[in-house]
Amino acid sequence: MRIVLYTVGGTIAMAGSGGAGVVARLGGAELTAAVPGLAGVDAELVVRDTEPVPSADLTFRRIAELVAAADAAVRDGAAGVVVTQGTDTLEETAYLADLLWQRDEPLVFTGAMRNPTIAGPDGPANLLAAVRVAAAEVARGLGALAVLDDEIHAARFVRKAHATATGAFVSPDTGPLGHVIEGRVRVLARPARLPALAVEPAAFDRVRVALHTATLDDDGALLPHLADRYQGLVVAGYGVGHVPGALAPVFGGLAETIPVVLTSRTGGGSVLAHTYGAIGSETDLARRGLIGGGLLSPYRARVLLRCLLAAGAERTGVEAAFAAHR
Ligand code: ASP
Repeated sequence: MRIVLYTVGGTIAMAGSGGAGVVARLGGAELTAAVPGLAGVDAELVVRDTEPVPSADLTFRRIAELVAAADAAVRDGAAGVVVTQGTDTLEETAYLADLLWQRDEPLVFTGAMRNPTIAGPDGPANLLAAVRVAAAEVARGLGALAVLDDEIHAARFVRKAHATATGAFVSPDTGPLGHVIEGRVRVLARPARLPALAVEPAAFDRVRVALHTATLDDDGALLPHLADRYQGLVVAGYGVGHVPGALAPVFGGLAETIPVVLTSRTGGGSVLAHTYGAIGSETDLARRGLIGGGLLSPYRARVLLRCLLAAGAERTGVEAAFAAHR
């Protein structure tokens, strides 16, 4: 069995640079050499190094190209794929990959919270667990996954919820799908998958989607003329999907021109659809044309909306897709 490992940088691949802080520069040979037990996994690991960057510098296009390369690797016989990258944007890249991934073979994202130069780096354990999951029959059909801290998270539900802890990745609405226990991959829940989206990597360059977080006493000064520069907007509202009443007509006006998706800034749970009635509440915003994002976090909703717009979806297509994905 062959597993292909794509390295993309991040803390897991960082090394010192003469006292000026660590930078991403290790490749797959160094990463795999640091993993006790990897040789014991019953799989041939094929390394494909790509330019190492902090995950802040990743782009939709680069991830879509990576998914296309992973797809080709599977077509050529790989049983699974692992991607090592920075953790900062991993919840977005893994979700993007999940939307595009058509295969049953596992596409597993991992990284590290502690870099290789400090005591107790978590990269080697995370990489070993990720390879085990990528090689596991039981992990087939789960789409893209994030494997860190011996937990297996669906890319669709995972988020980074701590800046430094090794247990930074959580799935607030579902919990992990499974665990790696004494080297054995245990899958405890199998969410239904949605059909993959077809998006040309270059198409992402033609679409911009903004994210606006509602904050206390927000006067919306950032919003005028937003539709001149962006093709879509995600609003991270308070709680169940509320914004200051004064901004409701502003978002409604934008929704007449571009799709505007309403999500919750809380980090867990869903926006509501028919509970509150004040100006700026979820029912008011729906009346003004905002699309409910349901359980999708603001970051995930932005990834989905950019995919849909890059694929050429019109308003009804965007609404239908959000109805299916939220
Ligand atoms: N800043 C790093 C990155 O995302 C953090 C990490 O890898 O955990 O590249």
